[in-house]
Amino acid sequence: MRELRADLAIAGGGPSAIAAACAAAERGEQVLVIDRQPAPGGQIWRGQTNEWHERFRRCGAQWLGRAEIYDAAPGMTLMAQAPDGPAAIRAGRVLVATGARELFLPFPGWTLPGVYGAGGLQALVKSGLNVRGLRVVVAGSGPLLAAVAAQLIESGAHVLRVCEQAERTQMTPFFRYVAMHPEKWLQAAELGLLLAGRYQTGVWPVAARGAGKLEAVELSSGETIRAEALACGFGLVPNVELAQLLGCDLAGDGFVKVDEKQRTTAPGVFAAGEVCGIGGVEIAIGEGLIAGGASASLDRSFRGVLAAAFRLRGELRRLPQPSTYVCRCEDVTWSRIEPFDNWREAKLQTRCGMGSCQGRVCGASLGFLKGWPPPEPRSPLAPVPLESLASE
Ligand SMILES: Cc1cc2nc3c(=O)[nH]c(=O)nc-3n(C[C@H](O)[C@H](O)[C@H](O)COP(=O)(O)OP(=O)(O)OC[C@H]3O[C@@H](n4cnc5c(N)ncnc54)[C@H](O)[C@@H]3O)c2cc1C
Repeated sequence: MRELRADLAIAGGGPSAIAAACAAAERGEQVLVIDRQPAPGGQIWRGQTNEWHERFRRCGAQWLGRAEIYDAAPGMTLMAQAPDGPAAIRAGRVLVATGARELFLPFPGWTLPGVYGAGGLQALVKSGLNVRGLRVVVAGSGPLLAAVAAQLIESGAHVLRVCEQAERTQMTPFFRYVAMHPEKWLQAAELGLLLAGRYQTGVWPVAARGAGKLEAVELSSGETIRAEALACGFGLVPNVELAQLLGCDLAGDGFVKVDEKQRTTAPGVFAAGEVCGIGGVEIAIGEGLIAGGASASLDRSFRGVLAAAFRLRGELRRLPQPSTYVCRCEDVTWSRIEPFDNWREAKLQTRCGMGSCQGRVCGASLGFLKGWPPPEPRSPLAPVPLESLASE
């Protein structure tokens, strides 16, 4: 197995990782950034270039793209499956900057072709998918919905409705925070103008209907909208599995526990960005800079504002019907999972969470539906060739 060495190995290549890499490399550290994506940028800067990309290019950090980190071993070693085979990355310290993924909740028809993750459809559009003329409903929860809707409109799609499950009154502190921060206010005002008449609060999808592909979306309000695509996501969940393999403790809210220097509870392991809390790109960059050794003053209060404003309503626990798939990798329906009261039993008896996503989708949704703590991550974190495991 190929061996790579660095002073600082960064898992993930999003804004927090780029900021950390720049801060550390500019101070003379040998930095290696590893990401499954072909280019640096993470979720928000996918397919774009900006001044951070330029600074990253100049800072001298090494980039290992299209590389999936699937394991971690004691002594700061990460295992990655790169295009030219597996690599063992040995580093003086590790920064976990693995970001977050979308939370999907199962409802009748959510596995129909034409139903996408909201961020998933956005990523496809950023990668060149043509959505011109496509009739789309965007639904679920969180500020990502508005960003996705805006991107779809700019790309020529007909966004018919944006449905936010939270009530407007619950979102008041969010609007108040935005109004007090000029850069956020400007962005919100632009989105508000673009989405005027289409953004609805207190409404969520209860079913996706169609023969073989999506034809209509049924809403909790009783309305049915004819659409070719539904872009749906109920907020974000942190990608904490690698941090857990490295021995980092999680806080009570499920994010990686860090101190003011972004140190985790595992010696030599740092964490930054959405893996420590959902709060947007500015906080991710600030935490990255701190983890990379720079000083930055940082207000993280937006995280609490977001969590309260977009808290999921209890009615969403009644979305799945007996025949609704909860684990779509292993075709396990709600009626088969519902009787169990813990993950382990459900997994052993139904194979729920044992498919190729290894519970990353159904584990998070069952965390909400049943209150089950997510399953303990096990290596390999992602499917890899047997020969990679054998060569460890
Ligand atoms: C789907 C999605 C879309 C979003 N779109 C927007 C938007 O339009 N506007 C907006 O303001 N905010 C958006 N956000 C929020 C935004 O991503 C964050 O505010 C910010 O980018 C977080 O930066 P980060 O560095 O913490 O993580 P990310 O940007 O999420 O970067 C994490 C990186 O880690 C990599 N990674 C994770 N695990 C592994 C592994 N095991 N092996 C290799 N690589 C790995 C991922 O490929 C990713 O590139 C989005 C978030 C998501 C999840």
